[in-house]
Amino acid sequence: MSAAAPHMVVVNQRLLGRNEQQATANRMLFRDHGVLVVNLLSSPGSGKTALLERTLAYLAHRLPAAVIVGDLSTDNDARRLQRTGVETVQVTTGSVCHLDAAMIAEAVGRLNLSRVQILFVENVGNLVCPASYDLGESLRVVLLSVTEGEDKPLKYPKAFKTADLVVITKIDLAQATGFDRATTLANVRAIAPQATILELSARTGEGMAGWYDLLDRRLAGVIGP
Ligand code: MG
Ligand code: ZN
Repeated sequence: MSAAAPHMVVVNQRLLGRNEQQATANRMLFRDHGVLVVNLLSSPGSGKTALLERTLAYLAHRLPAAVIVGDLSTDNDARRLQRTGVETVQVTTGSVCHLDAAMIAEAVGRLNLSRVQILFVENVGNLVCPASYDLGESLRVVLLSVTEGEDKPLKYPKAFKTADLVVITKIDLAQATGFDRATTLANVRAIAPQATILELSARTGEGMAGWYDLLDRRLAGVIGP
């Protein structure tokens, strides 16, 4: 082990401690405004933006939504999502490969929260450190596309262990890519027994009803009786 390693660990723990405080503040703010916050985590290219595009189009006339999009660079995804007519805030993280609670607090400052009922956060495409940063979200969703290896839950256990929901995406491509559904589901269940699992295709719409139902149920919980 290098001499610098113990110091690095201390610094990381201090940063994460500060993040926890900000995440708690965010969560209280969201609760006070009755906003359901959905944090989407996945590797690059798993279909976060596609899922959001379809979801926002569906929600457009039903309830007020907003999106915070994190990317290392470019605002391509934010511009794609803005076309749905939903208010979109872009966070360009530069060299930082995750969103943290302070970035969310800053982005939320640019929204009128009292007009928002559901806030989606498209995290930076990365299954490693976004898992360590609580943003104050109500629901943590990890996406896994059928084009990825069925061992992803085993390789990135933290993301899956902290997920409320695991969404298998791009199921319309399952046959073409030789997707091993049984092994993938077994791996998800082994690593993330707490998580609900949904399978869907944002392209064809298959399975989207289950996703909307789940959001509806969670919204009812946030808004209360
Ligand atoms: Mg994206
Ligand atoms: Zn990172």
